[in-house]
Amino acid sequence: MPAYDHNNIFAKILRGELPCHKVFEDDKCLAFLDIMPRAPGHTLVLPKTPARNILDIAPDDLGYVMQVVQKIAKASVRVFGADGITIQQFNESAGGQVVLHLHVHVIPRREGVAMKPPASFKEAPEVLAEQARKLSAALAG
Ligand code: 5GP
Repeated sequence: MPAYDHNNIFAKILRGELPCHKVFEDDKCLAFLDIMPRAPGHTLVLPKTPARNILDIAPDDLGYVMQVVQKIAKASVRVFGADGITIQQFNESAGGQVVLHLHVHVIPRREGVAMKPPASFKEAPEVLAEQARKLSAALAG
């Protein structure tokens, strides 16, 4: 397995070198909206520890990420009126992973509405800002 690349785009977001529409942060995790959402409210949950994916993260760190994933999934149901939630997590390029810092996709779903294809649509920043505001408020309250 190749080494973790500290210059990947999510590492830069974690260091604050690039912006994101943040929905949650604590000492171990950061969650922000995907800029090319497959459905409204599509959120990415990352550990702060430098792990490429499920193959190199420590089990406890992975477990904590999944606790945050569950919180965001539950809040997404309330905020986006979702009928269901799709969770995706890809590992290495052969497994569909594009950005090589571990992240879990939390995708709110509506009955009968298909997900957009990956990277097919870039959401307007003002829409992402409003969705992030609502989701982070629901998580805080
Ligand atoms: P994966 O590595 O799981 O295949 O996909 C990476 C995800 O990151 C994609 O859903 C893509 O839309 C998203 N993404 C790529 N670059 C950025 C970025 O700069 N900011 C945000 N918020 N999301 C990104």
